[in-house]
Amino acid sequence: MLKLYNTRTREIEEFWPIEKGKVKMYVCGPTVYGPGHIGHARTYTAFDFIRRYLEYSKYNVKYVVNITDVHDDMIKTANKEGITIFELANRNIKLFMKDLKELGIKEPNVMPRVTEHIKEIIAMTKTLQEKGIAYETEDGVYFAISKFPNYGKLAKIKLKKSFTGTRVETDKYDKENPMDFALWKKAKEGEPSWDSPWGKGRPGWHIECSVMSSKHLGEQIDIHGGAVDLVFPHHENEIAQSEATYGKEPFVKYWMHAGFLNVRGEKMSKSLGNFITIPELLQKYNPKAFRYFIASLHYRSRIDFNDEAIAQAQKNLDKWNNTIQELLSLEKGPENKEVATLIATARESFKKAMDEDFNLPNAWASLYDFQSRVNSIIAERVFSKDNADAILLFLKEIDFVFDFFEFKKKEEEALPQDLLNLIEEREKVRKEKNWGEADRIRDLLKEKGIELLDTPEGVKWKKT
Ligand code: AMP
Ligand code: ZN
Repeated sequence: MLKLYNTRTREIEEFWPIEKGKVKMYVCGPTVYGPGHIGHARTYTAFDFIRRYLEYSKYNVKYVVNITDVHDDMIKTANKEGITIFELANRNIKLFMKDLKELGIKEPNVMPRVTEHIKEIIAMTKTLQEKGIAYETEDGVYFAISKFPNYGKLAKIKLKKSFTGTRVETDKYDKENPMDFALWKKAKEGEPSWDSPWGKGRPGWHIECSVMSSKHLGEQIDIHGGAVDLVFPHHENEIAQSEATYGKEPFVKYWMHAGFLNVRGEKMSKSLGNFITIPELLQKYNPKAFRYFIASLHYRSRIDFNDEAIAQAQKNLDKWNNTIQELLSLEKGPENKEVATLIATARESFKKAMDEDFNLPNAWASLYDFQSRVNSIIAERVFSKDNADAILLFLKEIDFVFDFFEFKKKEEEALPQDLLNLIEEREKVRKEKNWGEADRIRDLLKEKGIELLDTPEGVKWKKT
């Protein structure tokens, strides 16, 4: 039974999707005013593992990640570059899609863009206004949180009395309550805008996710995610908009939030000089090592990105790939009866850990035990080809979730002919039981960096 931590209740709960066997999942997407950064990479990789594990568990998952292509930062950057927000978005979306692919993140089923949903955004805003929940001011249309009694239930915020109901003159635009938020922003000179019942303007930020999740997944969904920074106000506001519009509760059954990524102990920011984009990440590191790094951590834990952590992840990944290479090159040997049980136990522990709120650190602890047992029976050489194939099949099975192991057999490196001749010569003298000469050639090869291994399948060599 899969269980997951629900931010809505602050508890680990059993997972019961709205429709049996199906999962409707939405994760807030990037604002595309620049290339993606490693914080994005962390969140989307963490949710990629979650999505893939749900699929591994035979759920039919529909996964939506939106693209925020109209936003204050988009307007600022486009103006600075002298291009339109559409040109800016197209460039960065293209880059983002390439980055996702390189990071091994499976493409979401739908990646809707805000600018393609303006009609629906206007419609929801109008509905909220007609219901008396939204009101128009000089600069836009606002959601009146005083009209939504459950406001604050996700972030567990209790509103002050003065915030609920009484009119506070806060600024020149006559907002009723300082916490009311914009559904629609009236256009200022030179800003990108669309026609609406309130004149030319553009959507506020939060409304896009209420609109796009209902359009692509329905009025109520199973899982909604993002990193913790979005709990308030973004997700709180999404709940207010969707539940006030459709009158259905809860808008989201399970809220899931990934921990934040910091760099060398500090929040990433351009001014601190510790801001790392995904293209920079990919230039410096093996994307599979980054994936391994994220896979070794709990999706809810705050993580610190640094060179040592990635180097360690690369080392651990190399160890797995070495084990895989050994399994691929095993040929003959006696059958090991322990292997079937070993695989069954590993699978069971893996699922048990993942079913407990996708507990990856526990899942890896059991996989490491499995790996060390496999390595020792490989070393003991009590291992048949069928045993090796069964283990490889199991590793491929879990790699459906991780997608970072290398299953292609490495081509044997060719040795220069003079060294091959030496190996052949040694085989010949060994057959003649000329042990002294055989050892001399072995030592000679060792000096040249070649180690010989006498195996049941004949002599093998490796570089030292
Ligand atoms: P944004 O582009 O800021 O709208 O963020 C898009 C997604 O990335 C959201 O789900 C954020 O919660 C997440 N995110 C942004 N910064 C970070 C970070 N430093 N660590 C983890 N996730 C982040
Ligand atoms: Zn969102």
